[in-house]
Amino acid sequence: MKIGFIGLGNMGAPMAANLLAAGHKVTGFDLVAPMPEGVKRAASAPEAAAGADVVITMLPNGDILRKVAAEVIPAMAAGAVLCDCSTVDVDSARAVADQAEAAGLGALDAPVSGGIGGAAAGTLTFMVGGSDAAFAKVKPLFDIMGQKAVHCGASGAGQAAKICNNMILGVTMIATCEAFALADKLGLDRGRMFDVVSTSSGSSWSMNTYCPAPGIGPKSPADNGYKPGFAADLMLKDLRLSQQAAEAADADTPMGALATALYRSFVEDENGKGRDFSAMLPRFEARHRS
Ligand code: NAD
Repeated sequence: MKIGFIGLGNMGAPMAANLLAAGHKVTGFDLVAPMPEGVKRAASAPEAAAGADVVITMLPNGDILRKVAAEVIPAMAAGAVLCDCSTVDVDSARAVADQAEAAGLGALDAPVSGGIGGAAAGTLTFMVGGSDAAFAKVKPLFDIMGQKAVHCGASGAGQAAKICNNMILGVTMIATCEAFALADKLGLDRGRMFDVVSTSSGSSWSMNTYCPAPGIGPKSPADNGYKPGFAADLMLKDLRLSQQAAEAADADTPMGALATALYRSFVEDENGKGRDFSAMLPRFEARHRS
């Protein structure tokens, strides 16, 4: 396929490189980032999109996505698909899809989980919203860049799945960290705590796979000085999107709201920026009840 790729940062560059390595023709555009070897650099986003079968965007936020989409949609060939893999608000995802479909294009919102490591290894999970036809057309590309693509429903459903998942992740990581800090103060050995909880009803991905305590459980960013991994600032971005969506949909999400407030303090006031999101554990360790 001919692929236009817009936004080749930490995630986009390795995703584009994997598409190229699988034999697709990739033309890229980024305001600043260099192109991976073999990806042809276009002079503008519309130039990268012109004549492409699929245009993939991997951009920082919904405002930038809306701006880029307004530029590229008129340049795209009839029947092509605009596939946004960024994490953005549900409203922006739906607005861009409406605009693309009104212009006779297919549209997908397809945010990912798996991080930079998953992007490089081609093992991302895609959560996809949009039509069956658009999903079928892009599925072979998802299979190259990832290990799994779930068609979640109509436009916006991919972003909805992503923010609900990450709201659970933020809440369970905080709960796991505060429980470790409590266990410390109760004199409970962290290894014993892991052995019990990871095989009991308190288990979760945060405990079992991404344990926030150094030296405990499988290797995780805690074993590497809390270097991300999944940065606390990205978790804060996703939690904010969850609260924006909850407000728009009139959904009561008290735990999500509290997790958002805690990650906001951590990132903005407590030197959490640039640290892994599991560094909530040393934060709780250093604190007292009031
Ligand atoms: P990044 O900042 O490394 O990359 C974004 C790229 O977009 C940059 O290279 C930037 O120059 C480019 N860009 C910005 N405005 C542009 C424009 N108008 N035209 C062309 N290019 C433009 O960010 P990233 O880590 O690659 O993340 C991209 C998206 O993926 C975000 O929405 C993020 O939330 C999501 N995401 C990231 C991770 C992760 O671990 N990094 C994991 C899952 C999802």
